[in-house]
Amino acid sequence: MASVTRAQPAPAERPHAEVLAALAAGILGPDATPEIPGRVLATLDQLASRRDRDQLLAILRLLATRAGALTLTGHPVPVSRLTNEQAEAVVRGWQESRWAVPRRLASAVVAATMTALYAWPGPALERIGYQGPLGPAPDVPKRLDPVAVTADEELVCDVVVVGSGAGGGTVAAGLAEAGLDVVVLEKGGYAAEADFSHVEHEANRDLYLYGLTLATTDLGCRIIAGSTLGGGTVVNYTTSFKTPDFVLAEWARVSGVDAFVSGEVQASLDAVAERLGVTTEASRPGARDALMEKGLAQLGWHCAPLPRNVRGCPQDASCGWCGMGCRLGAKQSTMRTYLEDAAARGTRIVTGADVRRVLINDARAVGVEARADGHRLRVRAKAVVAAAGAIETPALLLRSGLEGQVGRHLHLHPGTGAFGLFDEDVRFWEGTTQARYSAVLRDTLGEYGPILETVPVHPGTGSAAVPWASAAGHRALMDRFANLSLCATLTRDTSSGRVRVDRDGNPRVLYKLNATDEQHVAAGLAACGRVLAAAGATEVMSLHPRRRTFRPGEPGAFEAWAEAVRQAGFGGGRITMFSYHQMGSCRMGADPATSAVDADHQTHQVEHLYVADSSVFPTASGVNPMLSIMGLAHRAAGRIAARLS
Ligand SMILES: Cc1cc2nc3c(=O)[nH]c(=O)nc-3n(C[C@H](O)[C@H](O)[C@H](O)COP(=O)(O)OP(=O)(O)OC[C@H]3O[C@@H](n4cnc5c(N)ncnc54)[C@H](O)[C@@H]3O)c2cc1C
Repeated sequence: MASVTRAQPAPAERPHAEVLAALAAGILGPDATPEIPGRVLATLDQLASRRDRDQLLAILRLLATRAGALTLTGHPVPVSRLTNEQAEAVVRGWQESRWAVPRRLASAVVAATMTALYAWPGPALERIGYQGPLGPAPDVPKRLDPVAVTADEELVCDVVVVGSGAGGGTVAAGLAEAGLDVVVLEKGGYAAEADFSHVEHEANRDLYLYGLTLATTDLGCRIIAGSTLGGGTVVNYTTSFKTPDFVLAEWARVSGVDAFVSGEVQASLDAVAERLGVTTEASRPGARDALMEKGLAQLGWHCAPLPRNVRGCPQDASCGWCGMGCRLGAKQSTMRTYLEDAAARGTRIVTGADVRRVLINDARAVGVEARADGHRLRVRAKAVVAAAGAIETPALLLRSGLEGQVGRHLHLHPGTGAFGLFDEDVRFWEGTTQARYSAVLRDTLGEYGPILETVPVHPGTGSAAVPWASAAGHRALMDRFANLSLCATLTRDTSSGRVRVDRDGNPRVLYKLNATDEQHVAAGLAACGRVLAAAGATEVMSLHPRRRTFRPGEPGAFEAWAEAVRQAGFGGGRITMFSYHQMGSCRMGADPATSAVDADHQTHQVEHLYVADSSVFPTASGVNPMLSIMGLAHRAAGRIAARLS
């Protein structure tokens, strides 16, 4: 595992470290610690794009010179010579700039600095009453036995599956059940119950794609995806919606694929729901969901329990931590279900194997090439299934020479929300990961209306979303972190982005919110504000960097706030946005001019190269996508096995 701290920055990094230390002093005031620059630099090492990292380092180097600092800060001295107050004003100036570049710089530096403080155990967490991990991880044995790669190696099998998440794990089990010899290659490590430290920075580094540093190129939306054996299903919040009928009908229309409405996909959705133990009987709300439910009830708005894929889940304070892995094994991730099924049928699993290329011979896939623990791993196979997620699957196909529709039509379900300040302790990091949702906005906005949910918010990620306009103001809000709650809005986006690859073959994610989606974000955010106010919040704020708040009960305050946040805007980094659901970047369809894979999940361009993950969605699912992905992957296994027999 990569180390995230550097005891001492290397000599060449000293100018960067000095600038970061000065900026941290401006951003955090007295909380800034000497470790922060090293932690931020180590975080930059995890960026997907070396170009982005080099650009950021170049800016830091400029800020260490008089001329560069004069241009970027207005002060004719290196940033390291600024007082804390001057550094704070510089960051605020960048944040409020009319230009996108300084705004992005502020957003990156503030987020990285906050995470470098609040994702690490220490006095700042003690001050806010965050109790850190709830004891040590249990000492339980691992249930899978991945193959170790100790030298350059070649494996031979029937089907090689790239990725082990919702799609990869499910398709591997189905293929193994059909009697095929399967190899699963997973770029993340193998972390199970005994490894889940529940320390935020360790979870970010060990369980998330690019250490949780991935974002759209304009930094408008942070992209959160799992990267470990089991992929997103290990870190996700267990919400298990079947694909709604209106979405299946749209998918059939858009793709020209009848299976979405013929009952075929439905049968697979039923099968995976049963394997995962999906139930609405394990959705006891914690304080955060209870407040959202209370607000929705006060307003007379729709509210329903969420179906979840858990067995033996205590639904108590310990649950809020399982975004960093469920220590009890109650979460029915692919690691605990389909990968075990596959392994029991002889599937070989390799972790730490980063697949760089699909081997293609005469427009036919014949295997893959990966880097595994510093060795070259080739897997020869009759078929390749790409299930690396909607960012990495198109990246893999693009660097293997595919083009056309590959990488297009990316949807992100961009999410944002409002924080409400309550008199009582909420500790919004605790409680069942997700227990309630509301689809009230579908009544007014139709099938593309956003849904409202909550998520557990831990200080490392939360501190970067809490508005920052000054060190003291942010610190005062962090002092009340335990009194905050969240209502989030998740937009079923019509905007479509694109995954491209850089010179090293790594993904770059281009995405811009269109006007319709901006309106839906505004409507969703306004609804969040109303819900939190109705639940008894004393103050409600959006996740804009500048604190935009209203105090419930003051006449006209809500309306003025809703208008102000709408005017402040949502695109291009104006507000903190998160994508937990990436979809559609190799979409399924009958027509190669508008889609990347056919009804059997096979790419239009390369025979026996299949895609079985969230990339194949014809449009955004509108609900949390895990079960839809698994349902499609379950069906895909049958189709691929039939083609190979
Ligand atoms: C914190 C969080 C909470 C979420 N909560 C929910 C929820 O409650 N309900 C829900 O429905 N959805 C939820 N989601 C979304 C859901 O988990 C994902 O949409 C789903 O896991 C995506 O499935 P996938 O198969 O497309 O990709 P993933 O599950 O992301 O799996 C892809 C795997 O491929 C691996 N990989 C990538 N590139 C390579 C490569 N080159 N070589 C080898 N392996 C590679 C990755 O490391 C990863 O493990 C959540 C996601 C996150 C991150």
